[in-house]
Amino acid sequence: MIRYCGSLARGIALVAIGCALFACDARNAGSTTTSPPSSRSERVVTVARDDGRSVTPSGPKPAGFLKGQLHMHSNNSGDSRTAPERAASWYESHGYDFVVFTDHNVVTDTRDEASMLTLPGMELTQNLRRCIPDRGAPCLLHVSALFVDPAVDRWDVPPPTSLERVDLYGRAVDQARGWGALSMLNHPNFADAADIDVVMELARRGMLLMEVENRAVDSENAGRADRPSTEALWDEALSRGARIYAVATDDAHHYDDADLVRRHGETAYVGERGWVMVRGARDAGSIRRALESGDFYATTGLMLDAVEKGERRLKVRALGDGVTMEVVGRGGAVLHRVESAELAWDVPADVTGYVRVRAFDREGRKALCQPLFLE
Ligand SMILES: [Zn+2]
Ligand SMILES: [Zn+2]
Repeated sequence: MIRYCGSLARGIALVAIGCALFACDARNAGSTTTSPPSSRSERVVTVARDDGRSVTPSGPKPAGFLKGQLHMHSNNSGDSRTAPERAASWYESHGYDFVVFTDHNVVTDTRDEASMLTLPGMELTQNLRRCIPDRGAPCLLHVSALFVDPAVDRWDVPPPTSLERVDLYGRAVDQARGWGALSMLNHPNFADAADIDVVMELARRGMLLMEVENRAVDSENAGRADRPSTEALWDEALSRGARIYAVATDDAHHYDDADLVRRHGETAYVGERGWVMVRGARDAGSIRRALESGDFYATTGLMLDAVEKGERRLKVRALGDGVTMEVVGRGGAVLHRVESAELAWDVPADVTGYVRVRAFDREGRKALCQPLFLE
């Protein structure tokens, strides 16, 4: 089935394929990002317009961390033309230690490449023309199940018994849990799919991960005047007591065919834009345990080679120049800030809830560490 483009999917002339569900991953191209002003120079650093291309990491892969991709597609999804083996090779050539195949409603089971692990997952994809609350756009409600038993093979999406977003999302998370998989909320701002009520209910049902940086160009991570950014959404959930971790992903659909897709005037959804760095051994069990315990960080290219969390102490070191680090706490408040690639901070006794570190550089690359939950 085809991949609808943003203007079509956001328009009114939507065609349903099969009852209420249809295949769609609508995307709009291009957004401009602005880094926070430098307190040293008062200069606003304008980051180049996102051209939808792969990024250059700020440094080499640090020792002790695995580079992993948690969201990518092959031609087992109707909106990609690349065979699984070729997609895996692409990631292997970009220094990945593991990838999780997350094709739409099917499990792609692949052989491991020479130096890279491929893990079975699935993007549980529910696309509906309308749902509740109705936001005037199609409902593209996607949850990934990671570490799925390949014997599961596929998800035959049952007819909806409720059109409430929270129920539709909820049944996907329940299904992932039923398979013994980890669940991840995908691109919550894409077509305004999920809000804080959804996030809190899914967290209550056991959702562990949330895409704060799904790096497909039209995921609208930055939000709008009437919609919080995905990072603010995460902070809101953490502030309300949810224990969920942030991930960055590619959601790639195009690999060697990216230039061809662009020549046809379409948007290419490519890899090496957002990934996770996981502290663990290169086997599925170790990677899963690290994800479950938050022993990883999300990155859009800024590499960290040290991330330490003590009982009430944070220590982070980044690779590269022009790095700013911030400690973020309850309500998204910035509690501490340094213009440096190194941060060490003791959490004051009056700070409660959680603290986390975000780092960014002049190039617009970002890294998000997982929260330290405070008793
Ligand atoms: Zn999706
Ligand atoms: Zn996807």
